Amino acid sequence: MATFDLNGRTALVTGGNGGIGLGIAEALAEAGASVMIAGRDEEKNERASNEINRNGGQCRSVRCDVGELEDIDAAIAETINAFGGLQILVNNAGIAAGESPENMSDAIWDSVVDTNLRSVFRFSRQAFEAMKQAGFGKIINIGSMYSLFGSAQVPNYAASKGGVVQLTKSLAVAWAPHRIEVNCILPGWITTDMTRPAIDNEPFHQQIVQRTPAGRFGEPDECGGAAVFFASSASDFVTGQSLAVCGGFSIA
Ligand code: NDP
Repeated sequence: MATFDLNGRTALVTGGNGGIGLGIAEALAEAGASVMIAGRDEEKNERASNEINRNGGQCRSVRCDVGELEDIDAAIAETINAFGGLQILVNNAGIAAGESPENMSDAIWDSVVDTNLRSVFRFSRQAFEAMKQAGFGKIINIGSMYSLFGSAQVPNYAASKGGVVQLTKSLAVAWAPHRIEVNCILPGWITTDMTRPAIDNEPFHQQIVQRTPAGRFGEPDECGGAAVFFASSASDFVTGQSLAVCGGFSIA
């Protein structure tokens, strides 16, 4: 369907070298977008972009720590240089580390909130000009079930992901006049490196599976369809929204 076609569009995916980010990068490339993967680990970057290119996509990678403003600017510049513009930004890079609120250090709080929330603001702000120049833009932020629920174990993570939803709405309101739509995907429990400790803890794993109406974890590529929708002209009148891709976890 032409409305979902991403040919002629360029996407930058932070943390696109593995897990959910790679699932999204693959889907965007399959729909026709040129894709820039931005991650810290250059070996993973290379492996991911090679795989996408092998499968017929057009993909490059750039080393980028989303905590560093110079890296953000360089990644955006490299994307424009390589592909001639930037219309789609996927703010996916994230980390999880937690502690009970009463025992949490400032350092753990800051590392998670800075990586998961501040970087979304900074990357979006720095990409705004390129999208304005292009005449339209699509920003896709990655929230979580913890955008909706509180957590005693990872209150910093939940605060960062709740913030991502509110930031999504604010950017959407601010930039709608520029034809920049800003939306959010809220993944449920997905099999990735991040959730490996939960999967390896069998009782906890079973608890999550039973709590999920679909009765299983999701796979990274299952976030791809929602990303293609939010990246394409199919969603041109959709902004500030959060779509849960969670096997029913969020409504049970
Ligand atoms: P992974 O640990 O598999 O991937 C995380 C990605 O983020 C990696 O590609 C990593 O790249 C990148 N990253 C982390 N920190 C930085 C940084 N400072 N700069 C640049 N890149 C960084 O996790 P997931 O795929 O599971 O997570 C992806 C997103 O989805 C995160 O925002 C996460 O919070 C969210 N999410 C995940 C869920 C799940 O069940 N898996 C559920 C809900 C939300 P590198 O190794 O190069 O640093």
